[in-house]
Amino acid sequence: MIKERVKEILSKIPEGVQLLCATKGRSVEEIMEAIEAGITLIGENYVQEAEKKYSIIGKRVKWHFIGHLQTNKVKKALKIFDMIETVDSVKLAYEIDKHAKKKGVVYPVLIEINSGKEKQKSGVFPEDAENLIKEISKFENIKIEGLMTMGPFFEEPEKIRPYFRLTKELFDNFKKLSLPNVEMKYLSMGMSDTWEIAIEEGANIIRIGTLIFGPRKG
Ligand SMILES: *Cc1c(COP(=O)(O)O)cnc(C)c1O
Repeated sequence: MIKERVKEILSKIPEGVQLLCATKGRSVEEIMEAIEAGITLIGENYVQEAEKKYSIIGKRVKWHFIGHLQTNKVKKALKIFDMIETVDSVKLAYEIDKHAKKKGVVYPVLIEINSGKEKQKSGVFPEDAENLIKEISKFENIKIEGLMTMGPFFEEPEKIRPYFRLTKELFDNFKKLSLPNVEMKYLSMGMSDTWEIAIEEGANIIRIGTLIFGPRKG
């Protein structure tokens, strides 16, 4: 089933859109099945969980961090992940820059936008995003490559469209700023029930778990 679902989604998404497979709570066996069907990009929410899976799966796929990252986990995160999609503070960026410098790399990140301005969710509020990006663009060992958003949950998926549209507007505006260390390439938005809307609104990374693996158990 996993294989069929991956193949079906891959056949539906337009060229230039990457399918990120969201694998929190899924076993290595499940993930391997998805990889055999063509998944090349994995998203994990927890460093510890990812560490175990990474030790088995390794570099045959790209790894993106899509959860909330604590500063004390940054060093480990940089060992596993090719990109952190959820940078939403100068403090976190500072820590990433520090470890990237030690490794001698320029590390790619996305800025997470809290497009619904929900208190319980992470991400920078839309009106604060420009200042944050300007601050982070001063770090020499970080490269900002785009934006990520979750958006609020609605029973009716269509209701999320304005939040995706707002995030795309920010994306286009930040592109025009031509800041150093900022290259707006990736717009990560859309999940199992909203990915089609997200692509219509300009997403080029969609993050899908449930649609591939079925409902989460825990
Ligand atoms: C779990 C998760 C997804 C995938 O959600 P599904 O509804 O299972 O497709 C996407 N993005 C983030 C940040 C997630 O935590």
